[in-house]
Amino acid sequence: THFGYETVTESVKQERVAEVFTSVAESYDKMNDLMSMGVHRLWKDHFVSSLNPGATNPTGMPQRILDVAGGTGDIAFRMLQHAHANNGNPNVHVTISDINPAMLSVGKQRSLSLPASHQSSLSFLEANAEVLPSSLKDNSLDLYTVAFGIRNFSNMPAALREAYRVLKPGGIFACMEFSKVDKYPIFNAIYKQWSFSAIPLIGQLVAGDRDSYQYLVESIERFPSQEEFRDMIAGAGFAIVGKGYEDLTGGVAAIHKGIKP
Ligand code: SAM
Repeated sequence: THFGYETVTESVKQERVAEVFTSVAESYDKMNDLMSMGVHRLWKDHFVSSLNPGATNPTGMPQRILDVAGGTGDIAFRMLQHAHANNGNPNVHVTISDINPAMLSVGKQRSLSLPASHQSSLSFLEANAEVLPSSLKDNSLDLYTVAFGIRNFSNMPAALREAYRVLKPGGIFACMEFSKVDKYPIFNAIYKQWSFSAIPLIGQLVAGDRDSYQYLVESIERFPSQEEFRDMIAGAGFAIVGKGYEDLTGGVAAIHKGIKP
């Protein structure tokens, strides 16, 4: 049946994604720098400043954030840093959740070099974004972030429904993901050339793993356009402000946001 087929392909995808991230966990951070020529750091800084975590009225109110597919911690660590340094708010708690124990364990290791006050505001949770545990209660979070994670999910609508469930009314869903450069044909041609030839090659030479990086490039290609993805977010019940997304580097990546009404 159609249903049966979908179930099989979803679980095959989930296994493939598990293999990829178990294999790349140790080299993940170094590879991000090489593949994006360092630009992923600027995107992540921009993503976090645009969310302005820790900004509450009155100042210093508690905020609960879930960083889904949080991997090795890049987004969560930046959010804590921003909350403390820019908003003087130590009452922000971030949970890093990820389906992959190898990625989480690199994240835990990295978190040991954070200031103690940041470490105590951080927790780790092994969880599938499509079926978050019931310990994450309905209407309980202020902010849900997912960066470069959602394209790996087998069932994106299910993950969006879970995001909607756990956010408070007024809570924000924010996603940063690779996207489409279709608006700039020449840049797009150069970018495609880079992705399809250089990235698998760097993967092979630096991480000794061509296949995983080939998968990553293909998963970017298959991900919906900015407008299609925005419509999926709206379809899950989120309110969209303006056009609903912001392109980064001509659309190589994009930030999408939705508000739970
Ligand atoms: N957010 C981090 C960053 O920006 O550096 C990590 C992104 S990494 C490219 C993608 C992560 O998604 C991996 O750690 C992977 O284990 C996780 N992932 C894939 N499928 C998942 C799922 N169904 N639920 C939760 N995490 C998942």
